[in-house]
Amino acid sequence: MNAKEIRDLFPILHQEVNGHPLVYLDSAASSQKPVQVLDAVRDYYMQDNANVHRGVHTLGARATDDYEGAREKVARFLNAESPEQIIFTRGTTTAINLVAASYARSVCGDGDEIVITPLEHHSNLIPWQQAAKATGATLKYIPLQPDGTITLEDVENTITDRTKMVAVTYVSNVMAVVNPVKQIAEIAHRHGAKILVDGAQSTPHQKVDVQDLNCDFYAFSGHKMCGPTGIGALYGKKELLEKMEPVEFGGEMIDHIGLYESTWKEIPYRFEGGTPIIAGAVGLGAAIDFLSQIGMDEIERHEKEIVGYAMDRLSQVDGLTIYGPQKNRSGLVTFNLGDVHPHDVATVLDSQGVAVRAGHHCCQPLMRWLNVTATARASFYLYNTEEDVDRLVAALLQTKEYFGHAIG
Ligand code: PMP
Repeated sequence: MNAKEIRDLFPILHQEVNGHPLVYLDSAASSQKPVQVLDAVRDYYMQDNANVHRGVHTLGARATDDYEGAREKVARFLNAESPEQIIFTRGTTTAINLVAASYARSVCGDGDEIVITPLEHHSNLIPWQQAAKATGATLKYIPLQPDGTITLEDVENTITDRTKMVAVTYVSNVMAVVNPVKQIAEIAHRHGAKILVDGAQSTPHQKVDVQDLNCDFYAFSGHKMCGPTGIGALYGKKELLEKMEPVEFGGEMIDHIGLYESTWKEIPYRFEGGTPIIAGAVGLGAAIDFLSQIGMDEIERHEKEIVGYAMDRLSQVDGLTIYGPQKNRSGLVTFNLGDVHPHDVATVLDSQGVAVRAGHHCCQPLMRWLNVTATARASFYLYNTEEDVDRLVAALLQTKEYFGHAIG
């Protein structure tokens, strides 16, 4: 299937916005959903819907099979050792918060270190700030090179024997940097530290193998990879998950309940208190089937082609500053157009039917490092074509004309 055929499977992309055919370039914030995912969620509600793990009736059993089947799909997709190592969460944010609130707080103490990078999304920064505050640990940052990459030498210099936890993003949602997480994991482990990988921007776009990366925890969101909102997962090494205390308590996660003491179910259920996001998991399973059918290598190849084309065309737009490295980029381009505020850029682009994101992208420390308050960002996915890039460039040239004085 080529990108045009793939695009036909996404009904939302076939509409006009402000009198122009929609060009959707905001998949890094949330991707669109193909009919396969929409149908799977609808079919679940039409045929199988019931609560899971409880009912002895047929619908309850079917819903449980659907939900646990989705867990198996996630496990295979990430190449996890077993499905019990997949905990369904609301998304990346909730998954990281679980590790920071449970694992990190149980192992960190005064004088210990938590190591992150200035690239991190607030979701992979604030939970560690809070864990450091609560435990007396110090939050340390691996410094950035001028193009936003990190060097392994700096990783070696930042992680020490006092480091208990390292948390890094696989792919930056602003700089398009792809971090060497396998090598960082190796360095972390040499010092006895554990590593969490924020997979929000990698899982939708490339093959991920948690065993090969040898990461201890891996977090991702379904809505960025053609799945529904409200569902994502945390992968963890079994021996670590088994030692972790739950942070949410209630139905479904318990074993024996006394008046004053209780015990928890085995993993993963002890971390999934309350009725889970069943239809979301079904939709995520369908998204994984869809992406796997096209092939993650093919998706990565297509995006590299589109982003290469975009970098070529955008670098010819006078007055445009592009952030991040020249090479080894993921499928997004973050930029500013002269002194025009990125919100104004995005508003003019929207008037031309081109949807891009503008703002701090939940990376305020990184914006300060870049010395800007905000940027615009175009992000590509399997349904984008070179024509979409041409429409972006044409709309940017119109924006330039409109704000000519601010570009110089
Ligand atoms: N990390 C990164 C790198 C992200 O891009 C995002 C989403 N923008 C998140 C974490 C948070 O994901 P979610 O809002 O789905 O929890």
